Amino acid sequence: MANIGYIQMVRHCNQNCGFCSNPETPFFHNLEQIRSIIDDFSARDYFGVILTGGEPTLSPVLPEAIDYARQKNLHVRMITNGQKMADRAFTQTLADAGLQHVHVSIHSHKPKLEDFLTGTPGSLDWAEQALSHLGQTPIAVNINTVINRYNCDHLHETIDWFIEKFPFIHHFVWNNLDPSIGRATSNQYFAARLQDIEVSLGKAMRRLHETGRSFRVERVPLCYMAEFAHCSTETRKIVKSEERIVHFLDNKGTVRQTEWGHLYADVCNVCTLRSVCGGLFDRGDAYDPAELSPQFVDARPIISRIVQDLQSDPAWRMAKFKNLATVPAAHQGKASAGGPTQGSYRAGKVAAPTGERLVEPAFDPRRRQDPTARDWNPEGWHPMDDEDDVDQGLTVPAEPPRAATTAAQPTHSLRIGAADLAERSRTE
Ligand code: SF4
Repeated sequence: MANIGYIQMVRHCNQNCGFCSNPETPFFHNLEQIRSIIDDFSARDYFGVILTGGEPTLSPVLPEAIDYARQKNLHVRMITNGQKMADRAFTQTLADAGLQHVHVSIHSHKPKLEDFLTGTPGSLDWAEQALSHLGQTPIAVNINTVINRYNCDHLHETIDWFIEKFPFIHHFVWNNLDPSIGRATSNQYFAARLQDIEVSLGKAMRRLHETGRSFRVERVPLCYMAEFAHCSTETRKIVKSEERIVHFLDNKGTVRQTEWGHLYADVCNVCTLRSVCGGLFDRGDAYDPAELSPQFVDARPIISRIVQDLQSDPAWRMAKFKNLATVPAAHQGKASAGGPTQGSYRAGKVAAPTGERLVEPAFDPRRRQDPTARDWNPEGWHPMDDEDDVDQGLTVPAEPPRAATTAAQPTHSLRIGAADLAERSRTE
């Protein structure tokens, strides 16, 4: 197993994506906690660590964390929106510290739409500058894209744009929107139907395959990507029996995940891919079991392909698997009995976040005035304003997500923050 652990360095961000899966809480991991977590990953013989957030580049101890993980022989990756890496010197600092691999989140090559999705003017320009700087370093670069209602019709065009502009990027990751967590619980209109995704995603996967590039797709059932089933994140983890531990900075605390299936419909019972398929991710009721269709192909070539890939996968090494039943006390807080949930197992649910509370939350000043707002559009632009930008067949929310509409509705991020603080005060 090439297991990889996740550390949320901070939970604030310099952008404001409407579908953010980990919106702001006022907590962060300090260097002592990070070292302790890295020691734990190392003791478990994990292959690497992914530094994430919030926006991890906002952590003041990021270079030290990278350096320590490298000292422990962990492969060090980071997921970022790229905004701070538009600063060449900052990018070089992280490269010098030993950062090996970066996933830059970019959701569309259309500047206005990217601004809308990230809630941040100029976000695509910053990300492009970051990619240019990263191309001058030894750091491997991947692109992360959240599939949503507004980009699902031109995923393939975005791939063409990347191939032309940044030909050194060879690996792409699509995460289908999870409408059950984070800011998307309030902004459900970002969720796309599977049938809206299928055509463009198929073209995009074929384009990457034809050009010798690789990709992974998460939260898309195999009936929507049977041609490239071996590239499903869930299928690969099922076949490889992988696990992962995530140290969240919210009331989820520390989560160890060992199961990768989601939900299945009756038709799945006759599907030959059932044993290797992650199924339907419909926790937010955004996806419909009626959209699933059983496959009647042999699963063995898919499994063989994944097993063969292992031998050439740089993330793979033979590790002595240590089946640890508990999470170290340093990260548990008050552990409570956890049970199987949909697709995951909580080895240790903490009563309070493992991180510390920021004395002075480093939120964007605009949002400090109104931390609930998801209110920014470039010059009043709405995605439906550009015929080009959104499939006209899509239904958009009755009210566009503008200030007057959204500011009055508390978002999930505020509720998480308040709950965390209340929980913390109860346990102190
Ligand atoms: S029918 Fe069910 S098991 Fe088969 S590919 Fe679709 S989601 Fe997976």
